[in-house]
Amino acid sequence: MKRLPADATRCVHAGEDRHGQSAPLTTPIAQTSVFVIHGLDELRRYAEGDRDLYLYSRYGNPTITAAEEKIAALEGADAAVITSSGMSAELIAALATCQAGDEIVSMLDIYGGTVKLFENVLARCGIKTRFIPYHDLKNADRYFTRKSRMLFLETPTNPTLRCADIAALSAIAHRHKACVVVDNTFATPVLQKPLALGADIVMHSATKYLGGHSDLTAGVLAGSKKWMDRARELMILTGGCLDPGCAYLLLRGLKTLELRVERGCRNAAAIASALERHPKVSHVYYPGLEEHEAHELASRQMNDFGMMVSFDLRGGEPAVDRLIKKLKLWYLATSLGGVESTLSYPVLSSHIGLSAKRVKLLGVSPATVRLSVGIEDAGDLIADLDAGLEGA
Ligand code: PLP
Repeated sequence: MKRLPADATRCVHAGEDRHGQSAPLTTPIAQTSVFVIHGLDELRRYAEGDRDLYLYSRYGNPTITAAEEKIAALEGADAAVITSSGMSAELIAALATCQAGDEIVSMLDIYGGTVKLFENVLARCGIKTRFIPYHDLKNADRYFTRKSRMLFLETPTNPTLRCADIAALSAIAHRHKACVVVDNTFATPVLQKPLALGADIVMHSATKYLGGHSDLTAGVLAGSKKWMDRARELMILTGGCLDPGCAYLLLRGLKTLELRVERGCRNAAAIASALERHPKVSHVYYPGLEEHEAHELASRQMNDFGMMVSFDLRGGEPAVDRLIKKLKLWYLATSLGGVESTLSYPVLSSHIGLSAKRVKLLGVSPATVRLSVGIEDAGDLIADLDAGLEGA
């Protein structure tokens, strides 16, 4: 049997064209908005659907193609479409699956921006969303109607790291003829492959782990040729393309994805167990801990437990404020997934503006702190947290 490359190898090699004389080892930035066309025959071939030709960078660009092929290889997809941001990828996924009069069924425990996109933007286009609270996922079947066209999942969730059963929920959605879209941002393709579990489209805020260095904003969709052809057309028509320079940074970040994930998971596990023992911490949310509500599911569905850890601090907001002021290594930042460790305060960032009832349903409180664990030394990260907690 032919040996398939492992993710670590795919991260480095997939999508990079190193053929031909004087081929550079790294994929260069094709910093151009437009390409030279060699005669009308080429134009005719493009019009007939030959997408090996490049015409205009909003339609396609070699640097962007390399990053798309790398991500498609990692997700086990036929193809991928890179977009200008994670939000743009979500909008395109919704427009590819739904039109006015259709409905989306979505988990409630998803990124706040996605909730707003569904409630404030898609609702105005006549696309309604029915949200399933986490503890009602077992009754997901009841949320589907004849109008349901898309099931939207995000797993693990932000910030309590709950997990949704991709295989079981995909089977339910498919009975209702709905397309399953999974936001795989927190897990990355190294830890979780939604398409192999039954999903139809996988989506990322590539701004996070795929880029990995907090220096770019990008999104991506991956899936079958049928879905990606539709997504590409929408990406072109909505103008949600990425700049080639940014695609180069994404490509470079992707090469170390597997290494970063491995170190990040190891650091996160060590930090979760240190926090669990700390007297100032009342609760730790990390799916690697046996007591976590999604431990069994995460063990089945993921290759490791991820690089995010959240916890509740005794003393609530004033204690969180004191902790943040004392930390030297951990920076307060609202994003995640970079090589540097950061922390965020969900009630004043990702969950701001939500009703108190919804925040409670999402399991978040003013005591909750979310950590995005980077690739520094675990001992240094724990020592800095210990020093911060001392005065909190
Ligand atoms: N999905 C998740 C899980 C996110 O955390 C974010 C951003 O924080 C997004 C989607 C939106 O991505 P972007 O900021 O790249 O548009």
